[in-house]
Amino acid sequence: MLGLEQTVVEAVGEQDGAIVISVRPVWSQRDRCPHCRRRCPGYDLGEGRRRWRALDLATTSCFLEADAPRVECNVHGVVVAAVPWARHDAGFTRSFDDTAAWLAVNTSKSAICQLSRIAWRTVGRICERVSAEANAGRDLFANLTELGFDEISIRKGQKYLTVVVDHHTGRLVWAFGRDRKAVEKFLDLLGPERCQQIRLVSCDDAEWITRPIAERCPKAVVCLDPWHIVKAATDALDDVRRQVWNEARRAGNKQLAKRLKGARFALWKKPEKLTDQQHAKLAWIQTLNAPIYRAYPLKEQLRGIYHADNTEHALALPDGWLKWARRCRLEPFVKLAKRITEQRSRVEAALHHSLSNARVEQVNTQIRLIIRRGFGYRSPGAVIALAMLSLGGLCPPLPRR
Ligand SMILES: [Zn+2]
Repeated sequence: MLGLEQTVVEAVGEQDGAIVISVRPVWSQRDRCPHCRRRCPGYDLGEGRRRWRALDLATTSCFLEADAPRVECNVHGVVVAAVPWARHDAGFTRSFDDTAAWLAVNTSKSAICQLSRIAWRTVGRICERVSAEANAGRDLFANLTELGFDEISIRKGQKYLTVVVDHHTGRLVWAFGRDRKAVEKFLDLLGPERCQQIRLVSCDDAEWITRPIAERCPKAVVCLDPWHIVKAATDALDDVRRQVWNEARRAGNKQLAKRLKGARFALWKKPEKLTDQQHAKLAWIQTLNAPIYRAYPLKEQLRGIYHADNTEHALALPDGWLKWARRCRLEPFVKLAKRITEQRSRVEAALHHSLSNARVEQVNTQIRLIIRRGFGYRSPGAVIALAMLSLGGLCPPLPRR
């Protein structure tokens, strides 16, 4: 009923409305180091009896209670002996941990907190524990050939994370801090042999990513992430819109300023997704003959490059676009054209390898959703753990399923 393995049940009692079950490890599992599982000589009785919260029995809370003696390991020193029913340093049983992690991946924050009667922060610590164990028992870096690097902020304006996605499977491979050292640490973990196997890397044009990759992965073609280019074009268009809006406001043309502000979404959206009203807005902008309407097709055509039917056709497009953008006399687009010219080979590499934007975007969206859910967590470690459980394939099954 309790799902306990290698455990002897000594007694069952009741205290303050909870069921308390006295247990001990079977003989073969006694006096083991929690880190290396080696049998060690006993050291002392530690802090005496200890309790672990187990899964509820029907509607009643349940705890396991046992001695927690310490052992002396040759390698790991004096440590509390391992127990078969719980992870090291945990206040919950293994099945409780696994259930909470599964719920964190599959249900809402309030559902898990109410169902399990634990705080969201505790869920974060459980995720870290479960993810670390699953991580240790599996080779997350096997067969990696195409990687996508991206950066995501955990909170507005602070604590950035670099995430690495496997382009083949869409799986989240790794997440860590945001600087050159973090990228180097990832490449260290990958090791020189696997670095040789990396054929394709997509990222934005940040040097702290591209430099170490160029040094360590000689065979990797670096592609400029289409998502970042399309975003840069959208930002440039928004700069133009803001300029025109500011001018209108300064000239005292309140009505024009107001309508321009409202046109923001129509300009952002993909044309195929526009509503009738937004189409009308675009038509209105066209009649103004303002710089915005010159900027709009510039953005749309750049986006279109990544939706071209065949690679050859797409590869021919940037030339025309660059010429057009350089001469458009719209400062943000002239700047963007310069940036793309500098990164030309990487832009073309992305087109040549038909690196799809869709998958990168999909994983990014999912990671951002998870990070938003992880807001209550203090440490980035818990956010990373939740992301790895959800998108890295590390989530444990429910106990006995
Ligand atoms: Zn040990």
